[in-house]
Amino acid sequence: MEIKFERNTSPKAKPQDESQLGFGKIFTDHMFIMEYDEGMGWHSPRIVPYGDISISPAAMVLHYGQEVFEGLKAYRTKDGRVLLFRPDKNYARLNSSNERLCIPQVDESFCIEALKELIKVDKDWIPHSEGTSLYIRPFIFAADPFLGVHPAHKLYYMVILSPSGLYYPEGLNPVKIYVESSYVRAVKGGMGYTKTGGNYAASLKAQNDAAAINYSQVLWLDGVERKYIEEVGAMNVFFVLDGEIVTPELDGATLPGVTRASCIELLRSWGYTVNERLISIDEVEEAHAAGKLIEMFGTGTAAVISPVGELRYKDNVMTINNNQIGEISQRLYDSLTSLQMGKTEDTFGWTVEVK
Ligand SMILES: *Cc1c(COP(=O)(O)O)cnc(C)c1O
Repeated sequence: MEIKFERNTSPKAKPQDESQLGFGKIFTDHMFIMEYDEGMGWHSPRIVPYGDISISPAAMVLHYGQEVFEGLKAYRTKDGRVLLFRPDKNYARLNSSNERLCIPQVDESFCIEALKELIKVDKDWIPHSEGTSLYIRPFIFAADPFLGVHPAHKLYYMVILSPSGLYYPEGLNPVKIYVESSYVRAVKGGMGYTKTGGNYAASLKAQNDAAAINYSQVLWLDGVERKYIEEVGAMNVFFVLDGEIVTPELDGATLPGVTRASCIELLRSWGYTVNERLISIDEVEEAHAAGKLIEMFGTGTAAVISPVGELRYKDNVMTINNNQIGEISQRLYDSLTSLQMGKTEDTFGWTVEVK
């Protein structure tokens, strides 16, 4: 498919102060769109000026939530190259989400090539400062103007780009996490393993309640027994125990993070024992009480590694590693960010240059 291109003739001023970028607030001059119509497949790929779109008030996504998304980043290296980190993983996951939500599959390699074209057009928007990046948001939604419930016949796939700042401007600080025991985010058999808006809608209430008592994120337990740990907000989670590193196994309710997979591979390459298994909140409490919970951290594209300094389950407030960044958290953060920024040799073949 040939990608049509319409240049933005009134480009915006780029942000001058990169320390004020924050996350997801400003968007570049262009975006990518392609459409799906039943009988035609995906068609009309184009890069156009960034701007509002017009859809019917009856568009199915607004009523029944048939939509999926992805999140990845482009990094500018010191020597001026632009790198993506494992984009094939994001597009494979997009198709896995598509499959679950009855959204037609996309051509993964075409989408990656189209993404590279879009990034090249808006290359000057990639920030330069240490730790900054261009956040990439691909998404697909159902657009049939129809109030009946069925899988869409008309969909849009779009990609928007947002220059984003350092996630932790004051450095890698441990966060406070609240273990949620009333609400659940997802259950096995549901959509937990997909990146779909509905999972986030389901999480807002617990997130709000936790924020009101000064916890930055919620740790989800499984929806059946409210016992086994699943993940934190938009991050997977790891526990460094005595002699073993544990991350919850992928049971269908947990999102299979690209950062999670990369951490497992890195840790194993360093000789650590990493087990993907069931881990209950009781086991974490016991390990903490016995002084065997050495580190806990979250993993995700936005923050990369987020050390956990405090974990609260009901009335038990657990301080982890003296509220300091652990050795393993720091090593993973340094290794992953160095790879992403092209500072160390990529022996894993994880980075893809945009050129
Ligand atoms: C995106 C996401 C993650 C992290 O995945 P990465 O691919 O590492 O960014 C974890 N949990 C949820 C619920 C997510 O949506």
